[in-house]
Amino acid sequence: MKTALITGVTGQDGCYLAKNLLEKGYKVYGGVKHTTGIQNWRLDEMGITNDIEYVDVDIVDQANIRRMIDKTQPDEVYNLAAQSFVALSFEQPEMAALIDGVGVLRMLETIYQVNPKIKFYQASTSELFGKVQEIPQNENTKFYPRSPYACAKLYGHTITINYRESYDMFACSGILFNHESPMRGSEFVTRKITKGLVKWMKTKKPIMLGTIDSQRDWGHAEDYVEGMRLMLQQDEPKDYVLATGETNSVKEFASRVLLQLGIKHHWIKTRKEAQQQDDYGNLISAEIVIDECWTLDNQLIITTNEKFKRPAEVDLLIGDSTKARTELGWKPKYDLDMIIEDMLKWDLKRYG
Ligand code: GDP
Repeated sequence: MKTALITGVTGQDGCYLAKNLLEKGYKVYGGVKHTTGIQNWRLDEMGITNDIEYVDVDIVDQANIRRMIDKTQPDEVYNLAAQSFVALSFEQPEMAALIDGVGVLRMLETIYQVNPKIKFYQASTSELFGKVQEIPQNENTKFYPRSPYACAKLYGHTITINYRESYDMFACSGILFNHESPMRGSEFVTRKITKGLVKWMKTKKPIMLGTIDSQRDWGHAEDYVEGMRLMLQQDEPKDYVLATGETNSVKEFASRVLLQLGIKHHWIKTRKEAQQQDDYGNLISAEIVIDECWTLDNQLIITTNEKFKRPAEVDLLIGDSTKARTELGWKPKYDLDMIIEDMLKWDLKRYG
């Protein structure tokens, strides 16, 4: 029986990966910040809360990491613990650096000291591509991070490669494009939309978004955790992009959700004068464009607001996962409509 340790087991990917590994017969240790009275809606809804053994993990505490690796003696470590919300990283940039950057170094160094044979998976991200330098993006595409989150993840990515090359460790970095599911946190745009629109059907309270023209390559978390596992089962440790190869805008995502909910709608653009601060803090008048989505009988469903826009945006992501498909035999089962269907099924059950 193999033993795996998953840091960040209570997050979206953590719970899908735990389920995947449990089904494959693994003993799963789940790293959480506080083990006392562990309560997590995701693990509960997936029905696996009691199948995992929990350990206290604080990824910014080296001594704690050492104890936890000593205690669990895993064959495989999946480092999913992260401050993963891009918008928050602009507010808490140092926390992002500590958790998403230095935290990875601490994990690698501890594994190197305790047992360098332990296999290590690092959760890298398509946000590394940021202001994309080519379309589509693959393992050789130049990185151009656009947020404190992505800058920290870039360090996590390169230090993983460095430990592999320096100490011959089995360390892999998975560059995963956006992946969603019913277990996605509602601070992320897809879940904000599915949850918000299901609630809208009852309350008629419009949801407010930021930049709806951003385009993302959205896959399903269930498919992507299988890719993580496969990376650690190969003969050689390598880095892989996981992506669907299809990109859609936030607006298109919302339209497809509305379509599945049977809500006929149309989008309009309105221009408004607004007071904004310039770089020196002076109030200036500026024209802002607001996108709105209305039902055919004039009920407002979605509007946009500057406060949800980011200081620097990633406009377009679309991945080329040829390497993973050929070498790992990995292929996503879900397309975008199936992802939406799955998310709506759960949100309708929760809020419908
Ligand atoms: P990200 O790609 O990791 O940043 O994932 P998100 O789901 O947080 O954001 C995806 C895209 O949706 C980004 O370009 C956001 O700027 C855009 N977006 C537009 N409105 C919203 C919103 O209200 N919340 C979030 N989280 N993103 C939004």
